Amino acid sequence: MRCNSFPHSLHYQVRTMFWFVSLPTLLFVVTVSFSESTTCEDAQKACSVIACGIPVTNGTPGRDGRDGAKGEKGEPGLRGLQGPPGKLGPPGSRGAPGPQGVKGQKGDRGDSSVTETKLANLERELRSLEAVLDHIKKVHTFSLGKRSGKKLYVPNSEKMPFSKVKALCAELQATVATPKNAEENKAIMDLANDHAFLGITDEATEGQFVYVTGGRLTYSNWKKDEPNDFGSGEDCVCLQENGLCLE
Ligand code: CA
Repeated sequence: MRCNSFPHSLHYQVRTMFWFVSLPTLLFVVTVSFSESTTCEDAQKACSVIACGIPVTNGTPGRDGRDGAKGEKGEPGLRGLQGPPGKLGPPGSRGAPGPQGVKGQKGDRGDSSVTETKLANLERELRSLEAVLDHIKKVHTFSLGKRSGKKLYVPNSEKMPFSKVKALCAELQATVATPKNAEENKAIMDLANDHAFLGITDEATEGQFVYVTGGRLTYSNWKKDEPNDFGSGEDCVCLQENGLCLE
């Protein structure tokens, strides 16, 4: 509808205005009341009066509109720093065998005669060393010790307890001198300048003398009234310069 046209409903209101021409204020009130109670169609008919005669206030903001169209793709961003290297991957499969190498030259034939010659030389050197060692033994016996049968007696002038004598003899892979007959007893006597320990004791069982190497006593040359376990007790045996033994 155009704003300059005049529908019949508007005529009615105009006539009403004539009725209350002396009361312009009331006319305004009636008009407002009429517009509030009209339907949508009626509101359209009275649109020109309401719109022109009553200032309206702004309403509450409406709902957000729908999303706009998708924008164009932006420029690529700056490239980040390179990350750390990844974990070591699993070992690869075994490769195919390579080609066979060139066959080498034939070696020299072994000579067993060379080995036999070397062995013969070693045996000759060994016999020579044995002869030298035997000679040294004889010289050593003549200068330091006394030989009796298969035994070689070597003196030591140092005075020491019986336990140390046994340890020293063991260190030399020998034993304490032990006469098992008159000849051996004399050989030891000839070497001893003073009392010399013999490898005989009764420390295990009093009065029962045995060799330190084991076994009961088979030879003795006791001094008179010996053995006597004198004083607080004696268990070791010494050979005197005269060849007699005492406990
Ligand atoms: Ca004793």
